[in-house]
Amino acid sequence: MKIVRLTTYQAAPRWLFLKIETDEGISGWGEPVIEGRAATVEAAVHELGDYLIRKDPARINDLWQVLYRGGFYRGGAILMSAIAGIDQALWDIKGKALGVPVYQLLGGLVRDRMKTYRWVGGDRPADIVAQMRHYKSLGYDTFKFNGTEELKLIDSPRAVDSAIEKVATIREALGNTVDFGIDFHGRVSAPMARVLLRELASYRPLFVEEPVLPEQWEYYRPLSEISSIPLAAGERMYSRTEFKPVLAAGGLSILQPDLSHAGGISECHKIAAMAEAHDVALAPHCPLGPVALAACLQLDFVAHNAVLQEQSIGIHYNEGADLLDYVINKDDFACDAQGCIAALPKPGLGVEIDEARLIEANKQPPRWRNPLWRHSDGSVAEW
Ligand SMILES: [Mg+2]
Repeated sequence: MKIVRLTTYQAAPRWLFLKIETDEGISGWGEPVIEGRAATVEAAVHELGDYLIRKDPARINDLWQVLYRGGFYRGGAILMSAIAGIDQALWDIKGKALGVPVYQLLGGLVRDRMKTYRWVGGDRPADIVAQMRHYKSLGYDTFKFNGTEELKLIDSPRAVDSAIEKVATIREALGNTVDFGIDFHGRVSAPMARVLLRELASYRPLFVEEPVLPEQWEYYRPLSEISSIPLAAGERMYSRTEFKPVLAAGGLSILQPDLSHAGGISECHKIAAMAEAHDVALAPHCPLGPVALAACLQLDFVAHNAVLQEQSIGIHYNEGADLLDYVINKDDFACDAQGCIAALPKPGLGVEIDEARLIEANKQPPRWRNPLWRHSDGSVAEW
């Protein structure tokens, strides 16, 4: 079997899909994307495609090394996301060629269903209790929301109070009938994280995500020592070598690699094993589309330390299309009454893509950008 063609489709809300075709009629799908930089990753995919044409798609390990090492320069959000989507598509082809789901090729199931959680509250958290009540009636009991809006490097007790009050309101209204993680989203500085993590601890969130920016990772350990809240991070780390010093330093309880950013299934399977060796849980980042989610699930079902799966259904970013709009086998992604998804039964990644809809969507590429926030003094704020 030989790879003959790479085709990409940009599609609302902010996604990029890759189709890799072979000379035997089997094709695989990937989702190589950085949110807000879809066109840049798309260019990288086609540049890397030169290494793939006429090659055997079964040799995923070798092709991955070629894409990673072969260009001398390596790593980073763009290149590792391009590799990620290609890697997903190659696993999809291999599974389809052999007639089995990818999790069978990775050693088989370690669990029967995977717990997922939902986003509530949007960028500027509001109406969280009402949304949680609504989703609870649909079976979901685990959520994530943003902890703060923009926060200054040193901010006033008023900003701290409003962050604490939001969480207190949830516990007051819903008691312990819901679980939730709080995403600091890299908006919080190390000094303010010290304050917030201490004061939030009594409300017992499942985790605080990106308590500080990933480039400030040396604070994870000291922050973990002043609060009992498990710390989570990893959506902006792109390879084993980036996770290595972070795991060695300690402080994180949950690793959140993104299967569409950190080198795909091949790399994240290894990152999961590194985390397991450090008694660190796995909760793959996935505010993305259906191929990315399918890739995450393939890993969740073989990684013993996988505890929670993010998914983008109804997320505030999904304007113009939602998680399953381009999927034919929607029922395979249905959540049960506990918010869990069963192992996807179809061969490969287990997602059947409606290519006709993607062709239509690609006629109007979304050009999504994240909001650009500024502090009250006019300086740029982290979003
Ligand atoms: Mg996050």
